[in-house]
Amino acid sequence: MTTFKDLGLSPAIQQALDELGYVEPSPIQEEAIPEMLAGHDVIGQAQTGTGKTAAFGLPMLQYLDPDNNEVQAIVLTPTRELCIQVTQALRSYAEHLDIEIVAVFGGAPIRSQQSQLRSGAHVVVATVGRMMDLMSRRSLVLTAARFVVLDEADEMLDLGFIEDVEKILRMCPSGRQTALFSATMPPPIKKLAEGYMYDPVTVRITPKTLTVDAIQQAFVEVPAREKAAKLVEILKLEEPEQAIIFTRTKIGASRLERTLKDKGLDVKALHGDMSQGSRDGVMIAFKDHRVNLLVATDIAARGLDVEHVTHVINFDVPNSSETYVHRIGRTGRVGRTGRAITFVTPDERDEIGRIERDVNTSIGEWESPEERLEHAPRPRRRERSREREKREPEAEEQGPSKESKDEAKPEAPSAEDGAKKTTKLFVNRGERSGIEEEDLRWALREGAVLPDEAVHDVRVLHRFSFVEVDPDQAERTVEYLDGTKLKGKEIRLEVAKS
Ligand code: AMP
Repeated sequence: MTTFKDLGLSPAIQQALDELGYVEPSPIQEEAIPEMLAGHDVIGQAQTGTGKTAAFGLPMLQYLDPDNNEVQAIVLTPTRELCIQVTQALRSYAEHLDIEIVAVFGGAPIRSQQSQLRSGAHVVVATVGRMMDLMSRRSLVLTAARFVVLDEADEMLDLGFIEDVEKILRMCPSGRQTALFSATMPPPIKKLAEGYMYDPVTVRITPKTLTVDAIQQAFVEVPAREKAAKLVEILKLEEPEQAIIFTRTKIGASRLERTLKDKGLDVKALHGDMSQGSRDGVMIAFKDHRVNLLVATDIAARGLDVEHVTHVINFDVPNSSETYVHRIGRTGRVGRTGRAITFVTPDERDEIGRIERDVNTSIGEWESPEERLEHAPRPRRRERSREREKREPEAEEQGPSKESKDEAKPEAPSAEDGAKKTTKLFVNRGERSGIEEEDLRWALREGAVLPDEAVHDVRVLHRFSFVEVDPDQAERTVEYLDGTKLKGKEIRLEVAKS
């Protein structure tokens, strides 16, 4: 295991990390920190939640000179929320350094920010607009800014700030070290990197690592008019510690907030039509756990980092796979697991397949926590199935490992096919999931490539099914079909046991 000590950070920074309880660097930190300490420009393709702030922040802080009172480093952010969050993180990392970090952002009096800058700032964390403003008033000069970070560059692009970012970069010394962090790399961002960075090293944390490892994803198909009621039902069953519910529009967010409140849920909305003051109030209430449900639009929730978000619910399907990854990245933070549930109307059903392909992930149909338990894969399935096959014919008279109440004693399908022995496999889906005998036969033929004569019986029950195959084909059938999808639903197979 790599530790922060192996990365070459100073004792003062190390002490701060110890106090924060950071033991192990996250993947982006492990890769980016040594490159940055070696003086290279770095492009980090990573989103919020990967630990990117420390990835650029720690090497940056290490190289600042506390005795030089010029602005030595700037961090540009797309939003006020991210600006505040990055400032707080950097201050915690600089706890034992004599380094002043000042945040400047719109929507707050410029005077007090000017006076903070006059009192001395080694690092300025800024939103793009406010930095332009302060530069034009000559309250901020960047001639000594030898360390420049562009955080969430793709968001800056979306918000139309790229030209201003270029202007700012042109004001910084040419010998600077530049780091660019972005969840996605659209062509204008690549161009920006080519034009303003020197021989950058790219460090990439793919969405796959994030989504697949840490986040359990599911979808719910529901007609538009039933969405709110379904949401209430799901919230009651899932019991999230904290959830962010995303809507596409500001009006949708307010409407949903009202509906949920009417149902007695403790919820607040966060969207761009609210004043900065009330947005800050909502963010603080959510972070302090005084409210556990937040209904938000994409823009308002940008960069929002909350420690205990257990659930992200896409009440409206996100309009791109990138937005999807971005939204669900709000849960499953470093070292935790989270759940992401996406609502689609029947017309939007194809969106799920598109996201699955783009993000290279699997999104199954939502099941209540109780059903999930029932369908959870059993441990050491493979070993067991091998063992069973060795022990034929004992493996024959076996039912499902965990029976549902309404089908506690499914009729034991015949183990004999003439004189020939067969192996019975348990499939976790049945009629209720829209599975018919023909579907299973098709899966055995096309998915597991079994000849028809190797399949002896297929029996579909309400909640699960049994198939009987030649014993020497059983292991292969499980291997080929377990975890695949049938009629859009993930199926699990195992050798049936007593
Ligand atoms: P970020 O992606 O920079 O917004 O970081 C996401 C969250 O992970 C923040 O709450 C950090 O405090 C936390 N974090 C970052 N790096 C580590 C680490 N190496 N160990 C534990 N927590 C971390």
